[in-house]
Amino acid sequence: MNAAPTAKPLARRIFTEQVRLLYVQAPLGTIASLLIAPLLALVHWDIVPHAILLGWLGLLEATVLARLALIAAFRRRDADTDVDTERWARRYTWACAASGACWGGCIVLLILTPSLVYQSFTALVLGGVLMGGVLTMTPVLVTYVAYALPLSLPPVLWLLLQDNPLRATMGATGILYLLLALGTAQHYHQTLVRSLRLALENAGLAQSFAAAKEQAEAGNQQLAEQQAALRGSVEAMRELYEVISTPRRHPIDQVQAMLAMGCQRFGLAIGILSHVEADRYEIVQAITPGGEIGPGDIFALDDTYCRDTLRAKEPLGFEHASASDRRRHPCYLKLKLEAYLGAPVRVGEHVYGTLNFSSFRPRSAPFTTVDRELIQLMARWVGSALEQERMTATAQRQQTLLAHASRLNTLGEMASGLAHEINQPITAISLYAETGLARLRNGPIDPAELRETLEKIAAQSTRTHAIIQQVRHFARQSKPQYLTVRVSALLDDIADFLDMETRRHHVHLRQDIGPDLPPVLADPLQIQQVILNLVRNAVDATGTVDGPRAILLSAHLGPDGVELAIQDNGPGLDPNLLRQLPHPFFTTKPDGLGLGLSISQSIVEAHGGRLWATPNRGAGATFHFTLPAATRLHRPERVEVTL
Ligand code: ADP
Repeated sequence: MNAAPTAKPLARRIFTEQVRLLYVQAPLGTIASLLIAPLLALVHWDIVPHAILLGWLGLLEATVLARLALIAAFRRRDADTDVDTERWARRYTWACAASGACWGGCIVLLILTPSLVYQSFTALVLGGVLMGGVLTMTPVLVTYVAYALPLSLPPVLWLLLQDNPLRATMGATGILYLLLALGTAQHYHQTLVRSLRLALENAGLAQSFAAAKEQAEAGNQQLAEQQAALRGSVEAMRELYEVISTPRRHPIDQVQAMLAMGCQRFGLAIGILSHVEADRYEIVQAITPGGEIGPGDIFALDDTYCRDTLRAKEPLGFEHASASDRRRHPCYLKLKLEAYLGAPVRVGEHVYGTLNFSSFRPRSAPFTTVDRELIQLMARWVGSALEQERMTATAQRQQTLLAHASRLNTLGEMASGLAHEINQPITAISLYAETGLARLRNGPIDPAELRETLEKIAAQSTRTHAIIQQVRHFARQSKPQYLTVRVSALLDDIADFLDMETRRHHVHLRQDIGPDLPPVLADPLQIQQVILNLVRNAVDATGTVDGPRAILLSAHLGPDGVELAIQDNGPGLDPNLLRQLPHPFFTTKPDGLGLGLSISQSIVEAHGGRLWATPNRGAGATFHFTLPAATRLHRPERVEVTL
């Protein structure tokens, strides 16, 4: 398909080369002509009239000199365009034709020289000149033909036409010489063109090879660069993954680790997570070499490069602020920060601020695409971590409220029992008071008897106060508070509630608390809520039992810490329902909420424990939960109660 367009330039290049060779070889033939012609004239000096001889010689040498002038001009030429090449070829061909014609003018010498010896000499010289042309003019065949024909035809034809067998033979030989010279010239010419074609094609091939090699090298270089970028990318992803996947207690620690990673990776000393509101740029977390700035520091947004990052809505990076227009940026004018790479941080749909890294020193290497993609990923992760934290805090608030509501609900359900429990000591108080008053009305009373009555009243009022205190304690809304406590102490605090609930429903509650249990780290109120939930469920479960109703509350040391178990002799758990436990809002009770178990599970898990149920060997079910011993548990900073 490409043969036509490539063939033409090649033919032209070959022709250009032919013409160049013609001129390169020309001096030899020209100088030979310049020397031979005077010799020929000299030989004929005494035979041919001088005027004719000199006229001939003058004309011939003029053409030879013209050829020499052309050769010199060709060497001095400026451009070597196609047009010029053809013109140079044409000029030299005309000059050679003129020379040939002058050599053909030797016919005059033949005519004017009757001697066969002289004629033979002239014919010999002409034959030599003819053959000499073969050697020097064949690069351009037409030049040689234009030279050879006028050179040989006139003398040869004249010889042929002579009525002399020897001269006719010389003429015929001349014809043969001419044909031989033309044939040889044609052969040389073709060979030359072929070798020129080969040489140029080889040069073309070599050029193509060189170009292909260059292309391959460029490809290799590109590949190496891509590989390096890929390696950088993988390395960056690995670092990012390490930071994200390392378990840390709080996202703040993770962001801090990410800032440290960014500083190291980007070779910038300062790493900042900022929060932007209107024109206010607040530092939320920072890594700075000298700790010059820190969380809570506030700047005007316009004085920071982050303004541009937020406007660009994508990563922004530059390595040398003072070497660019940024040297007029307020941030550079005030802080002289040279290198910067930052990306916007979004929380949900809203712009939160920026994650940015900077340095007072210019950065030698430009930021790569991988760097920009990495900081974008980091900013996205920070955004999602902030969003998650926000959602967790909201959920935690709601769940604390829910747990509190559930406690109030428990108290509400125990209200009649509590009223009864408070009524009892109050009734006793009024009974003792009335008895004491009656005794006083009937005369003097023995002080010892009076003291005894008053002591009974005081004891009953202390009991009333204790119950009211417990209710108030249980009903209060407080933030989770982790303390090192003993399980027995937790149980003592709600002993009245437990006693009251079981007594009211005619359930026998037995406690089996192992000796020397290690203390646990717990929020007492929350764990008491769990115990009360489970005991109340057990009481409800035994409601349908005809015979004695019993609950066993036990606590023992297990492999996962202290294990508490509430066992009842109720109907037990339906295996189909067991799978649904503890599912929020699952209840089999007409007035149940179905939240007790799931809230209990969330509380236990937030303490690092586990809650589960097992069917008893005999009747009923047992609910277990564990609390890791205080020595083995890290104190959680916040309690995450999830449903
Ligand atoms: P609620 O007590 O409001 O129903 P819970 O989450 O405390 O909510 O309990 C969910 C359900 O689990 C109960 O309705 C009951 O069917 C079942 N359940 C809980 N404890 C026991 C138990 N000790 N024995 C049998 N079933 C139980």
